[in-house]
Order: sequence, then structure tokens, then C-alpha cells
Amino acid sequence: MPATTPSPAAGPWRGWRCGICGERIGVYEPLVHVTGEGPVRTSLAAEPALAELPDAGAACLFHADCHARVLTRA
Ligand SMILES: [Zn+2]
Repeated sequence: MPATTPSPAAGPWRGWRCGICGERIGVYEPLVHVTGEGPVRTSLAAEPALAELPDAGAACLFHADCHARVLTRA
């Protein structure tokens, strides 16, 4: 049997990880995108363009819960 090359079953997009906890952010999970204008609460499903972010931009993506936890840690 010839060696099989792994196929990208899940598509080319590898997904983003939360900048706080490091876990993968699900497509339908609420997330916070911290932009130059402040945090924006959205999701990958609501904003497919987020999947096109360069790594530098994706570093500003967090689970909404993680972001809220850090913000409210007083
Ligand atoms: Zn997180």
C-alpha cells in the first residue's frame, strides 16, 4: 500500500485559539475580538471574515467568557 497523504478533512482553516486560555475557539462560541477601537463581542459564525485574519490579528481573539473573567478580575 502506498503511503497516504493526510487530507485536510476539516478544510484549510486551522481555527484560532483563545489568547487567554489557549483553547480552540469554536465557530459558534461567543468570542471577543479586541480591535484598536476596543473589544467587539462577536463569533466566527457571525463574522466569517475573522477566519481570514493574519496571526497578529488573531492574537486579539478570546473566548467571551475568558475576556470577561480577566476584565472583571479586580
Ligand atoms: Zn479562552
